[in-house]
Amino acid sequence: MENKKLSETLSYTKKSVYALADKEIIDSAMSYAEDYKKYLDSAKTEREAVKASIALAEKYGFTEYRLGDKIAHGDKKYYNNRGKNLFVFSVGEECINNGIRITAAHIDAPRIDLKQCPLYEEGGMGFFKTHYYGGIRKYQWVATPLALHGVIALADGRVIDVNIGEEDSDPIFYINDLLPHLGHKQGRNPLDDAITGEQLNILVGCEPYLEDDEDSVKLNVLRLLNEKYGITESDFLSAELCVVPAAKARDIGFDRSMIGAYGHDDRVCAYPALTALLEATDTKHTTMCILADKEETGSDGSGGMQSELILDIINELAANLGGNSALIRANSKCLSADVSAAFDPNFSDVFEKRNSAMLACGVVFTKFTGARGKSSTNDADAEYIGWLRGILAKDNVFWQAAELGKVDCGGGGTVAKYISKHNIDTIDLGVPVISMHAPYEVISKVDLYEAYRAMLAFYKY
Ligand code: MN
Ligand code: MN
Repeated sequence: MENKKLSETLSYTKKSVYALADKEIIDSAMSYAEDYKKYLDSAKTEREAVKASIALAEKYGFTEYRLGDKIAHGDKKYYNNRGKNLFVFSVGEECINNGIRITAAHIDAPRIDLKQCPLYEEGGMGFFKTHYYGGIRKYQWVATPLALHGVIALADGRVIDVNIGEEDSDPIFYINDLLPHLGHKQGRNPLDDAITGEQLNILVGCEPYLEDDEDSVKLNVLRLLNEKYGITESDFLSAELCVVPAAKARDIGFDRSMIGAYGHDDRVCAYPALTALLEATDTKHTTMCILADKEETGSDGSGGMQSELILDIINELAANLGGNSALIRANSKCLSADVSAAFDPNFSDVFEKRNSAMLACGVVFTKFTGARGKSSTNDADAEYIGWLRGILAKDNVFWQAAELGKVDCGGGGTVAKYISKHNIDTIDLGVPVISMHAPYEVISKVDLYEAYRAMLAFYKY
């Protein structure tokens, strides 16, 4: 008995949130998950995530900010960067030089993009050529229902929204795979080579246009696209069309404790980062939630976290509120909100169990990411983690510390290093994911809710 007491006092063990939390917390987690599923289904691309996030922000009284606008204490604003990247900020009463509480999550997800000259016909079938986006395992994307999302920007300035495959009455799209009867040779390939990038062709039709002999299936598809959107083949040149899984977010398990969906990485962090900011009414600091694009391909581009837009916005806050940009950054704190890999007993050999994120054990803090001896990573200061432990304890948030996979088994990066390089205290926090980057990923509802509660505490203190 004395031994048990001593271990309770001295030992640290990860425990299921279900064992630690009150029923009230668990119930709240279940209802929070319902809204999250709706957000997921409305936000399969970064463009759709920006739209869905703006709609949420406007419900809470946030209004659009344009660079150069005046900013005052008490303002609740969002900055829409090209429809693909969003900054949402609430200007607190406290002196801006005391820093900003920043969360940064990404709203792009691995998928398959169309090439600029996509449409062709072969073997009596019409296809789109593609170039995949982000780290996908190609074999997972064949023989599964797919939807087409994106925009076609016309030379006359009009932008056409495309969203086909989400309604039950919509057609869907498909990538052919080989039948097992003829797949013996393919089956002997390593997984990564079984399906190649140039085989990820999207099946879009097989009905010919009978009045023409050449490319008649292709012509028929063009005819239908012209009828529906008024476009011609050259309009693909200025389009961004993305192929994503057609599946909707669903509960998983008899106990409905998990959610299966496309794109948890990283909407499972973007959604709590945003909703916690919108709902944090008791914060004195200025708070900011950044929803970034292009994380899955290295955070480049104008909407990625390597863009200097974050500095432009901090500089504008400084100029309008009588602050000093360098001082603001030095006193700011950031949660780089991105997912971690949940320990998977089916693939236990790539995990080091003591330092892996365990499903349903709470939100995960990751001190460093990177690979091969902590290369290419932010590494959060012990002092910053100590401060975080203090505020999470105040609100009784259930969290765990973890790193992604065994040493030298691989690794990965997040936006953390692109924020900390501005002299901002930064740490990765997020939700453990099963089958990360698969067309259908799995998370635990209580982990999602603890991410939300962690971010509420972060904005507040
Ligand atoms: Mn991510
Ligand atoms: Mn990712």
